[in-house]
Amino acid sequence: MKRDPDPETASRLRVVIVGGGFGGLACARALDGAPVEVLLIDRDNYHLFTSLLHQVASALLNPADIAYPLRKVCRRSRNIRFRQGVVTGVDFEARVVRLRDGAQVRFDRLVLATGSTTARTTDPAESRLQRHHRARVLA
Ligand SMILES: Cc1cc2nc3c(=O)[nH]c(=O)nc-3n(C[C@H](O)[C@H](O)[C@H](O)COP(=O)(O)OP(=O)(O)OC[C@H]3O[C@@H](n4cnc5c(N)ncnc54)[C@H](O)[C@@H]3O)c2cc1C
Repeated sequence: MKRDPDPETASRLRVVIVGGGFGGLACARALDGAPVEVLLIDRDNYHLFTSLLHQVASALLNPADIAYPLRKVCRRSRNIRFRQGVVTGVDFEARVVRLRDGAQVRFDRLVLATGSTTARTTDPAESRLQRHHRARVLA
């Protein structure tokens, strides 16, 4: 299995941030210039400004206006690097993050900022309530 090459940063605390959304970027910015090495990982190579999505949907903005390249965001920093990759797992004991391409990325501190998804209940009673609510909204 491939190992993440890491020669020049071996002596400094290594912070890996998974997710270049609002949370991950805020964390990376807070660590900019700190005596740590930061690796920001995201499955996409851009940060998506989600709150302006509706303006793209209504053709007021171009998609490129709300998607900022993460490499560009990190370029001015001396201690933050970006790596594109899909994180598939974390081995907390070995302190490595696993990527879909087979790579393993070592960390000393890990920040998981991968966002969230809508919770869907499996409770039939609550599901009925949700369906009822949806039907009323659509009516
Ligand atoms: C259409 C829309 C409009 C919104 N409008 C507003 C608003 O007006 N005001 C407001 O306050 N909030 C708004 N929100 C909510 C806001 O976008 C979220 O609260 C915010 O994005 C959460 O930030 P986050 O960093 O937790 O997650 P996200 O911004 O979702 O970032 C998660 C990041 O993790 C990456 N990622 C996920 N899984 C993996 C993985 N396995 N490997 C690698 N990378 C991964 C994703 O690519 C993404 O870049 C809106 C949301 C949407 C969808």
